[in-house]
Amino acid sequence: MHDLGVIEGDGIGPEVTAAALEVVSAAAERFGFEFTATHHDLGADHYLETGVALSAGDVERLRTHDALLLGAVGDPRVPPGVLERGLIVALRVAFRQSVNLRPARLYPGVTSPVAGVTPENCDLVIVRENTEGLYAGGGSTVHGGTPNATAVQTSVTTAAATRECVEFAFRLAAARRKRLTLCHKTNILVEAGRLWERVVEEVGADYPDVERDYVHADAMCLHLPLNPGRFDVVVTDNLFGDIVSDLAATVIGGLGVAAGSNFNPRGTAPSMFEPIHGSAPDIAGRGWANPAAAIFSAALCLASLGERSAALACEAATVSVLAELPALAGSDMGVSTAEIGRRVAERV
Ligand code: ATP
Ligand code: MG
Repeated sequence: MHDLGVIEGDGIGPEVTAAALEVVSAAAERFGFEFTATHHDLGADHYLETGVALSAGDVERLRTHDALLLGAVGDPRVPPGVLERGLIVALRVAFRQSVNLRPARLYPGVTSPVAGVTPENCDLVIVRENTEGLYAGGGSTVHGGTPNATAVQTSVTTAAATRECVEFAFRLAAARRKRLTLCHKTNILVEAGRLWERVVEEVGADYPDVERDYVHADAMCLHLPLNPGRFDVVVTDNLFGDIVSDLAATVIGGLGVAAGSNFNPRGTAPSMFEPIHGSAPDIAGRGWANPAAAIFSAALCLASLGERSAALACEAATVSVLAELPALAGSDMGVSTAEIGRRVAERV
């Protein structure tokens, strides 16, 4: 029995999550496992009613689950950062989800907007440190609102979290094509860069058959679209990982198909699975959202719970439905979010 906690969230979050859960139900029936899905009413409405994005009680309730599925949070009525930092980032930190895994594979039948990118040369995984860097540091502003205003935003990098992330990346690379690329900006961010390089060197000593490579974050934005085949596992810090994985999502067909997961590698708290897109208020309520990203994320969740065959079946069914869509997002997909969910569930 798998006990899932579900945060549908805002905008298209409930729409894509409903489709993902329909697919998980079909997989449960087909592969003979049981699961429960407990919904947690968090997100913009909850915040606007209570003034709190995430209480200590919410964290403890969510902690009891085996894994969490998150749709998306964010709403134009809520000031920027309140839900992103106060809910998503807070959960990543509370549950020590030090690894954000974002596969970037071009599926057969999906056309990349970048010429020359094919399913044969585009199958990489971005492993992003998920709790530190510029996202964890505090900050301050002096002379705010004046011509002399100066904002300071600090970045925090610890050997402990970096190591957890790098170890995860090497384990993954060893099970894949055995190539690990560190993506950073070590020539400018020298303190954090040195720490990342040292940890990669130390952990890498245990993986002599994994080839190591290094690419600056800016150069990555050039190499990844032009030569994705160079990369297998890319390990990187929080901010660079956020940027590079949106770029990778574009290369594989857009936010509608890009999955993500927040892993606690030590299993001391639940991991959380979420599409990398946001709540997309511009298309919410119209049935134009592609649920593939949410379904792929749910498949990653099933794999992490040991349901590997079910995960592969969900992935394959989604790929076959994607191949039939005239477009990957928006009004010209030809079918609605719910209909895509139904078709994938049937094929599972
Ligand atoms: P966040 O800050 O939460 O990451 P964002 O500002 O990056 O949000 P998204 O909500 O991810 O923005 O949306 C970016 C664009 O991509 C929007 O135009 C949105 O409509 C589109 N989009 C996002 N997800 C999907 C999806 N699943 N299907 C179709 N279009 C999508
Ligand atoms: Mg975004």
